[in-house]
Amino acid sequence: MKEKKDCKIVQDLLPNYIDKLTSKETNTYIEEHIKDCNECQKILEAMQKDISVEDKKREKKKIKYIKKYNHKLRILKISLLSIIFIIIILFAAFPGRNMMIIASLQNKFKEYEQQSDNVYIKTLYYPSQAIATYDNYYKDGVEKHVMTFPEDNVTSMQYVYPNQSKTFVDGPDYKKLSIMGGQYLYNPLNNYTYYDSLKTLFVMSRSYDITTGDLNGKACYILRATYKKETTGLELYIEKDTGLVLQTTQPVSVNGEDRGIITIQYQYSFGTVTDEDMQEPDATEYTLIEDE
Ligand SMILES: [Zn+2]
Repeated sequence: MKEKKDCKIVQDLLPNYIDKLTSKETNTYIEEHIKDCNECQKILEAMQKDISVEDKKREKKKIKYIKKYNHKLRILKISLLSIIFIIIILFAAFPGRNMMIIASLQNKFKEYEQQSDNVYIKTLYYPSQAIATYDNYYKDGVEKHVMTFPEDNVTSMQYVYPNQSKTFVDGPDYKKLSIMGGQYLYNPLNNYTYYDSLKTLFVMSRSYDITTGDLNGKACYILRATYKKETTGLELYIEKDTGLVLQTTQPVSVNGEDRGIITIQYQYSFGTVTDEDMQEPDATEYTLIEDE
């Protein structure tokens, strides 16, 4: 009977015992009782089992929640990264992409600029209003420009030296020579992508829309000016491999009068100009025209 009473007390204490809320003395009392009492021992085991099942359920719920939370967090992270990535791309695409293109074209151009002490450049004008072709020879600081005007059957050959220039004109029924003083020596190559600082590179990169295309089978970047009103319409085809301009298109106006769009194409040949190419024609065949 005494035991039964003890059992009741022990069983009342068990939940607190499991939750470790009971005192040391109570614990000793419960443990000693359970050693000798099968019934209470079973009840304790059953209670512990229940609690562990409950705990597992709770744990599962918690894991589920964490997983769900993590999933949401991951989606948020991915979205955030995507947005940042898109912003970077937008910023990089313009003007970063243009800056990279212009810088790479200028690097290539500089290689050819070093070889410009010997270069032949053929220039073709469209529509061929006045000049159909323009042959330019550059060798050792001397220039020769040959202009042909097919409609008038006239050819002009200009030789430019550091201190003077001579122009030989072959007309349909005449040959004239004029000699002039110091002439400005042209830079054979048009450096359209020139920049001298990161700032000018940045400004330039914002001045053009750059697309890709090809001209006569050569891969090009097409630069369209977007800056000043008067230069809008300037379009440059610059060869990807060389950085050299292959074509320019620009509206032309003379004294404010619109003269339409002129396209100029350039063909280059480096290191092929010979002394013979630079040879002047026989001056005795020409009538010397006095300076005015
Ligand atoms: Zn008992």
